[in-house]
Amino acid sequence: MILFKEVTKIYAPERPAVDNVSFGVEPGEFTSLVGKSGSGKTTLLKLFLREEFPTAGQVMFGEQNVHEIPDVRLPEFRRKVGMVFQDYKLLQYKTAYENVAYVMEVMGAKEEDIERDVMEVLDIVGLEDQAEQYPYQLSGGEKQRVAIARSLIHRPDIIIADEPTGNLDPYHTKDIVALLVKINELGTTVILATHNKDVINKLGKRVLTLEDGKLIRDEKRGRFML
Ligand code: ADP
Ligand code: MG
Repeated sequence: MILFKEVTKIYAPERPAVDNVSFGVEPGEFTSLVGKSGSGKTTLLKLFLREEFPTAGQVMFGEQNVHEIPDVRLPEFRRKVGMVFQDYKLLQYKTAYENVAYVMEVMGAKEEDIERDVMEVLDIVGLEDQAEQYPYQLSGGEKQRVAIARSLIHRPDIIIADEPTGNLDPYHTKDIVALLVKINELGTTVILATHNKDVINKLGKRVLTLEDGKLIRDEKRGRFML
């Protein structure tokens, strides 16, 4: 589904942010991407999302070279990929419902379709009773649930979560990781990037470890060690 082929990204001449990295991700996999801050996790994800271009190598999504997708087809590509960030990126003056509905509204979806789809994803993340709350009325964990619901609205093939628990306490961290596992079990491929080993230690799922931009470990049932 995803294939990185000898991918290097050099921002500044001193050293590559991503250094000759190769790996594949199969449909339905749950893969954690770990490594210290500055090891290249976000850059790797941006290369996949085509927010950055590689200095060398190729990134494939299925049969498609991500960096050769024509601009007109980018929105279609990005709808196949749900994104979740550390800082949630919610609109403060919109309710949970409106934050999720917004992405369908801008595409001109019909009101009845919006309502059905938004309630469905709010239900998946367990927020059906908080649909009318504004972000300031929600806990960090609930805000991240809204962001995850929003990332699911186009029924993406894959969810990319970059430090999704970075602002959360251990209780809400467990909760959000469990939700990502549930979404994966419902059939969506998940890539979870984190520098926090506690997040993925107990998962028993695949772990890719980055160090100074290099992929130094790829374990089927990893324990994250640095
Ligand atoms: P991580 O997400 O693991 O913390 P990053 O991918 O953000 O790592 O960063 C990897 C390296 O690339 C770091 O040395 C960082 O300073 C550098 N870097 C990241 N983004 C940029 C950029 N836009 N311009 C220059 N250097 C960058
Ligand atoms: Mg990062």
